[in-house]
Amino acid sequence: MTYKSVKGTRDLLPADTSAWLHVEHVIRTVMEEFRYGEIRTPVFEETAVFARGIGEETDIVGKEMYTFEDKGGSSLTLRPEMTAPVIRSFIQHSMGEQTQLNKLYYIGPMFRQERPQAGRFRQFHQFGFESIGQDNPACDAEIIAMAAEIFRRLGIHFTLKINSVGDPVCRPRYREALQEFLRDVHDELSPDSQRRTETNPMRVLDSKNTRDRELTADAPVIIDYLTDECREHFERTLAYLDELGISYEVDPRLVRGLDYYTKTAFEFVSTDLGSQDALGGGGRYDGLVEQLGGKPTPAVGFAAGIERMLIVMEKNGYDFPASEPAVYIVGMDDESRQWAFMKAMELRRAGIPTEIDYAARSVKAQMREANKLGARFVVLAGDSEMQDAAAQVKDMREGTQESVEFDRLASYFSGLGIHKDNTETR
Ligand code: AMP
Repeated sequence: MTYKSVKGTRDLLPADTSAWLHVEHVIRTVMEEFRYGEIRTPVFEETAVFARGIGEETDIVGKEMYTFEDKGGSSLTLRPEMTAPVIRSFIQHSMGEQTQLNKLYYIGPMFRQERPQAGRFRQFHQFGFESIGQDNPACDAEIIAMAAEIFRRLGIHFTLKINSVGDPVCRPRYREALQEFLRDVHDELSPDSQRRTETNPMRVLDSKNTRDRELTADAPVIIDYLTDECREHFERTLAYLDELGISYEVDPRLVRGLDYYTKTAFEFVSTDLGSQDALGGGGRYDGLVEQLGGKPTPAVGFAAGIERMLIVMEKNGYDFPASEPAVYIVGMDDESRQWAFMKAMELRRAGIPTEIDYAARSVKAQMREANKLGARFVVLAGDSEMQDAAAQVKDMREGTQESVEFDRLASYFSGLGIHKDNTETR
């Protein structure tokens, strides 16, 4: 009997994780520049956090959650997204009372029981950020700019689509107009859209069904129903984007899958992805904190899928930094192998990624291995080198070779600037 990872999940092996670490490093660097702090919440929550936070009528809550009862009889759910848990945590720790604006980010696994396909998994990974506390359009623009900056640094080209989905004042008026329109074509709509006409009519505009799209081509759009306040917020957000040189397409049909959005809603899409073309998206959700039991607090956020970013980067031939040993120490006989083992420890403690042979292979095989691994330097110490306490250091890139005393090896390599940051030894 052998086992495989569960459908829709996968293992990330060392050959994969180096790319992941690079993406995460770029994300963390940008987050530090924008002064966002990392938040880590548990991977499961009480089911109600998502049911209330995301909305019963959404696909996520309706059919995609991994919900289970624990032995104590509580209904728990593996997180399908992070905004609801972040807001739960924000309220629980009274974060709003400590500062006027909380800037938070996260990276981690999410879980949705969707039909797996290219770019769609059941355990996938998102990074995202939430700016909680202000209704300033500058916050909307900052969130979008941060996402664009991360994509830019990773060589990911995108199209940014943006819309305003209004607020509790304009939305009911729009909803009514839209419902009236949809009821006229009701019999021809798909069953999902027929149901949504009554429960969540804006989602009908989001339908992937071609006939639904044709029928709703002339449906009223929310932009025409915005209050002055919502319109001004939208225009000011767009003005910031113009000034930042971030191009966008206003898409009056963009509503996004989640119920909690107000005002700004946006999505980054990539033509390098297939049918699952969304890299990430987000928007303003001024009602969510109150919805989850906190004081009314404006907020805006974004989330993107890391798997999809990597698909685009690999397609574009992104030049991922390689993980190569800086030094390979060849062992020649028992004495030299013993020395290589100890010297490797010393170099590693000085922050120099060092590899040795563990399989008692021939010198030739070790040289081949060093080459294959992409080692920058090979260190050799045979009988006469042992006697002189000075090794032969071969520069694999330049093809040169020189003798370096054993005691000087660590400082020799450090001096070449090939050591990694190693705080322990500082
Ligand atoms: P959402 O929370 O649905 O707006 O998703 C935000 C982003 O997460 C999407 O644009 C995708 O990049 C990614 N994503 C969502 N669901 C999945 C999934 N099942 N598999 C892989 N990535 C996903």
